[in-house]
Amino acid sequence: MSAHRDLRISGERLWHTLTETAQFGAIPGTARGMCRLTLAEADVAVRHWFIAACKALGMTIAIDQLGTIRARREGSDPALAPIGIGSHLDTQPTGGRFDGILGVLAGLEVVRTLNEAGIVTRHPIEVIDWTNEEGARFAPAMVASGVFAGEFTLDYALAQKDRDGVTLAEALDHAGFAGPVEPGALPLAAHFELHIEQGPVLEAERLEIGVVEGVQGIRWYDVSVKGQTCHAGTTPMALRRDALHAAARLAIAVDAIGRSDPGQSLSTIGLFQAFPGSRNTAPGEVRMTVDLRHPEVAGLDRMEAALAAQIAALEGETGCTATLSPIWSSPPVRFDPNVIAAIAGATQRLGYTHRAMLSGAGHDSVYTARVAPTGMIFVPCENGISHNVAENITPDEATRGANVLLQAVLDYDASAG
Ligand SMILES: [Zn+2]
Repeated sequence: MSAHRDLRISGERLWHTLTETAQFGAIPGTARGMCRLTLAEADVAVRHWFIAACKALGMTIAIDQLGTIRARREGSDPALAPIGIGSHLDTQPTGGRFDGILGVLAGLEVVRTLNEAGIVTRHPIEVIDWTNEEGARFAPAMVASGVFAGEFTLDYALAQKDRDGVTLAEALDHAGFAGPVEPGALPLAAHFELHIEQGPVLEAERLEIGVVEGVQGIRWYDVSVKGQTCHAGTTPMALRRDALHAAARLAIAVDAIGRSDPGQSLSTIGLFQAFPGSRNTAPGEVRMTVDLRHPEVAGLDRMEAALAAQIAALEGETGCTATLSPIWSSPPVRFDPNVIAAIAGATQRLGYTHRAMLSGAGHDSVYTARVAPTGMIFVPCENGISHNVAENITPDEATRGANVLLQAVLDYDASAG
């Protein structure tokens, strides 16, 4: 094991692979922009490239009924399930070349490094390309890892349609990626995912690695505020029930709810519409969305209660009534302590500056965490930008992330049974 600790990936080879495969879906006229929608031509091309690269390393390929590619390098103990290194090769329509892609290609680089060093792990290692993580062509996002973890049924996933009415089942057939393996049939001993942060925290704090301990919970609501539509010139202020005025008070209260637990709570009104929408009419109705986030269920409960109390108080304060309708929620995820410890230990040993953090975005690891010990490694990205053709990282950032991935997987392999 101590010899393993000196092992490093080849940053140059990893960067070359990232650059080479960016040809599949590169957006002309942009420096690094990518459009690689699930199972469209560029995604199919990179899938074939990936399979060939894995086969060249002696790996075997399993493709599940949702097209997820699991490339396997055997271990020494046939009784052990594989350690997965997974993320996604699809992108947003105007995305970058690192979101998801780094996690898969760094897995490939880990296997290349192990092959070169002649190291046989105890667990098999699988490098995984999860189908349709982005949700850009087929909603919902993270659909294949969701079926793997039992969040969605296979039939539900296969029936989802893109904008042209093509189902995921049809797209899989057409692309030749409707595999035989049932998504949940091949268990994982663990799942490691290296990903760009997609936010500004690591860069702002000048840190090299984020040890991701979980994913914050999300709750979505629709709010409707109702008052009375009235003439702007003839209705005295004292007699108005102006829905916009009431909604504005509520908006300020929502902001305060997001600031109530600094570093933990977040609140956003993303949509705010007044009706009927006329210059000389006080609005009779406002519809708005509220997005609440917190790493703890108790925190989400507190925020929701505060929001409900503000809504209940609105009538007495303004004469307008408001209703709160829950739309969707995603519970907080806590990653596995042993996987987190392997990632944190590897990061420290490698001497990289780091911090513990939570992910603000969804990832395949959110779902794998339900059925396998899971953890994530973040590397900074330029200005915190992703889902954008400007998305960028440096070769050194990619190298550090992949070295943490390699060392964490080796440590986990040695210690877990
Ligand atoms: Zn991603």
